Amino acid sequence: MTRREEIIRELEAQSRSIDELARLFQCSRREILADLKHVQRTLRSRGKRLYVLPAVCNSCGEPINITKLKNIKRCPKCKSTYVTPARFIIKRG
Ligand SMILES: [Zn+2]
Repeated sequence: MTRREEIIRELEAQSRSIDELARLFQCSRREILADLKHVQRTLRSRGKRLYVLPAVCNSCGEPINITKLKNIKRCPKCKSTYVTPARFIIKRG
C-alpha cells in the first residue's frame, strides 16, 4: 500500500493534524501536504471528501479558516503562535 493510501485509511478512522501525520509516516510536513493535495483528487472519484477542521487561536479564540491546504503556524489576526493546528478527516462527501 502506498503512503497516500495509508493516509486515506488513517484519516477515515480519525482526524489528524499535519504534524501528527508527518510523525506517523516519518516524513516532512511538506511531503504530507503534497500527499493530501493528491489524496483530495483521488477521493473525488470515490465519493468521499477531505474535510478541514479549522485551526483555533488560543490567544484570541478565533477559528482560523483555511481554504488551501497549509500548515498554520501563526494567527492571522493577533499574530500569536499559540495555535491549535487544523485537523483533517475523510468522510463521504
Ligand atoms: Zn489570535
